[in-house]
Amino acid sequence: TLPAEPSILPVAERTLVLVKPDGVRRGLSGEILRRVEAKGYTLRAVRLMDATPELLAAHYAEHEGKPFYQPLVDFMLSGPVLAVVAEGNNVIAGFRSLAGATDPTVAAPGTIRGDLGRDWGLKVVQNLVHGSDSTESAAREIGLWFPELV
Ligand code: GDP
Ligand code: MG
Repeated sequence: TLPAEPSILPVAERTLVLVKPDGVRRGLSGEILRRVEAKGYTLRAVRLMDATPELLAAHYAEHEGKPFYQPLVDFMLSGPVLAVVAEGNNVIAGFRSLAGATDPTVAAPGTIRGDLGRDWGLKVVQNLVHGSDSTESAAREIGLWFPELV
């Protein structure tokens, strides 16, 4: 048998990235995936799909009861979503750094939301992408969107 890998090697972490319906609709899926790959992350799974109310209820459970919850779910059902599993050293924090602040009107230039996001004056912040916010969220969300990978 092979010896165990030295523990100093970085653990290949995974995160769930979603290109939200505004990103798919605006034709930005390729640009967003380009930025993920250019950073050095590996795409492990990519699927264009329609979300369902059940999937979104589980995915956004932490936001249930907030004023933007129903507009957020309706927005996420307004068109196809590109679901992605990206892998790499520190990819969870790294992708959120690539994505930028939640509100695209304050997200820094150089980030996906800062460069490409718009303030549409809508009920929900349409900010192009989702990225898992912790190892626990990533495992849970990858299980929801890609059950076959778990
Ligand atoms: P994220 O992790 O940066 O995506 O932000 P959150 O997890 O806090 O919120 C999930 C999503 O809900 C965001 O990406 C926005 O699309 C939307 N959202 C969050 N906060 C607000 C808010 O205060 N107002 C509105 N209208 N939408 C929000
Ligand atoms: Mg979040």
